[in-house]
Amino acid sequence: MSDQLIQFVRDHFDTKDFIPLHAPVFPGREKEYVADTIESTFVSSVGAYVDRFEQDMAGYTGSPKAVATVNGTAALHIALKLAGVESGDLVITQPLTFVATCNAIAYCNAEPVFVDVDRNTLGLSANALEAWLTENTSLDSEGVCRTRTDNKVVRACVPMHTFGHPADLDGLISVTRRWNIALIEDAAESLGSFYKGKHTGTFGTLGTLSFNGNKIMTTGGGGMILTDEALASRAKHLTTTAKKPHTYEYIHDELGYNYRLPNLNAALGCAQLEQLETFIENKRALAAAYEDLFSGTKLEFVKEPEGCRSNYWLNAVICEDKLQRNELLKTTNKQGVMTRPIWALMNHLAMYQSCRRGNLSNAEWLEARVVNLPSSVCVPASVREGLNNC
Ligand SMILES: *Cc1c(COP(=O)(O)O)cnc(C)c1O
Repeated sequence: MSDQLIQFVRDHFDTKDFIPLHAPVFPGREKEYVADTIESTFVSSVGAYVDRFEQDMAGYTGSPKAVATVNGTAALHIALKLAGVESGDLVITQPLTFVATCNAIAYCNAEPVFVDVDRNTLGLSANALEAWLTENTSLDSEGVCRTRTDNKVVRACVPMHTFGHPADLDGLISVTRRWNIALIEDAAESLGSFYKGKHTGTFGTLGTLSFNGNKIMTTGGGGMILTDEALASRAKHLTTTAKKPHTYEYIHDELGYNYRLPNLNAALGCAQLEQLETFIENKRALAAAYEDLFSGTKLEFVKEPEGCRSNYWLNAVICEDKLQRNELLKTTNKQGVMTRPIWALMNHLAMYQSCRRGNLSNAEWLEARVVNLPSSVCVPASVREGLNNC
């Protein structure tokens, strides 16, 4: 199977060179918009492209408001603060995620709690969430969810839409409502993914996106908070050093952060967003071809959950066992076709190994078997001339 996969990937990307897991492409108006910021001298924290990027992103996702940030981790940090997460609180998330999800929780001096994922979505399991809450918490007289042993507040829940595949949002909304827990979606990987026709990241009180260089579209580095009008204006204030508007005086009315996205980066984002639907079409065609390639083999291709349109940011297969996974990783990487195992579970990392957790059998099962495959948008050779990518 490895040999057929290598051949398939080489044919698709039409190159004998090293093939990365995910490389950005800039076939649109990127250079024009970035040059425009340089000519205007507005390259930094103020500028028209920041406003335009926020408006365009709100329009695309259907979110009432969008607030740009310097990266996705900063977006998550502020989203958690605005959901009321305080020092000593517990925040439930999945062990199968990129470390940024947990780091943002830790920046609030809160503690992540790890609850299992579903095998079909790779995202937080509503059943596992319900089971952990029932076993460990109860609602106090004010309706606040607290742990029974040490009275800690369970303030928020952060599911992550793994590789762009939407988690079970109906289930998660119903459980978090019943337990009075804020829902914050880490939609860093799922820009362009819709659950029952609604964009991921717009279901919770707040949702966050990332535009890091490896994501489906990039601003170099960047992020976005998706939320309602009131929380968005709080988010803008906190991410811009909490400065009160004034023509010349410096008055900062609370502890703020310099989490602004520079105009230079927003310009790149505006150009990339214009092409997002084309990128997704391209990636979905690749996913369909991978699905064909793996049908009838011992490798199970990870498909979008029912009722969803996934952006297929990173394609993945599930191997039969760890041995087969290791073999696949070794053979492909040796031949210059990059593949990668899924992240080590967060509860295996030194910083989070003593965190509370439920039964994590699905996450452990997936950790041993999932392999990511090359997933870049492929710009055809004819268009590629003069462009330095794909
Ligand atoms: C990329 C990513 C983030 C945010 O990353 P930044 O590099 O800070 O933009 C957060 N969570 C997940 C799951 C991610 O994949």
